[in-house]
Amino acid sequence: MLNTTKRCAILLKRHFVLTCKAKNNIIHRLSRNSSRLKRITDAFRFAKEGRVLEGTLPLSDLERLHDLLADVEGAITFRLEGSKGARGEHLLQLAVTGIIPLVCQRCLQAVPFDLDVDNLLELVPEGAELSQDELEDDTRDFLPVAKELDVAELVEDEILLALPVAPRHEKCGLPGAANAGERSHPFAVLAGLKGKPN
Ligand SMILES: [Zn+2]
Repeated sequence: MLNTTKRCAILLKRHFVLTCKAKNNIIHRLSRNSSRLKRITDAFRFAKEGRVLEGTLPLSDLERLHDLLADVEGAITFRLEGSKGARGEHLLQLAVTGIIPLVCQRCLQAVPFDLDVDNLLELVPEGAELSQDELEDDTRDFLPVAKELDVAELVEDEILLALPVAPRHEKCGLPGAANAGERSHPFAVLAGLKGKPN
């Protein structure tokens, strides 16, 4: 009986030590695995077959955004849909939505930015030369791809392009003031139920 208890304690202790040592590694590996799932092995085939990839990416994974963020909590949602165009071109429609907590350039507090990206990208083989007409055509957005496409990286690129250069509250002093009016504050709802203005 005593032996069993002792054995359990030793096992438990070993487990905790292992857990502590491995924790960071495991977390690191899991996040790398999750971003590996967001890879398309053949982007041209993905487009040709009209496939769809949907998912979410935590802001903590989008490291190139971190300098611009007030915090890295939250996630964005993306949807990638392949298709073939009238000229036989390989197309990817990319939609990205989410609330991005940017830093107000005036008061340095968080200012939520409502991200709403919806871009049509035309795949071209990496290294392929585009004609002058193609280069000057503002209606086409070319994306050079070798074959494999890192979706997380693409999503990150598109978010960076969509963010405002100098985000600001409409009125500083009240963090999140710009968006406060769009959400019903719980106290406002209560006040409404009581039939009294606060
Ligand atoms: Zn501000």
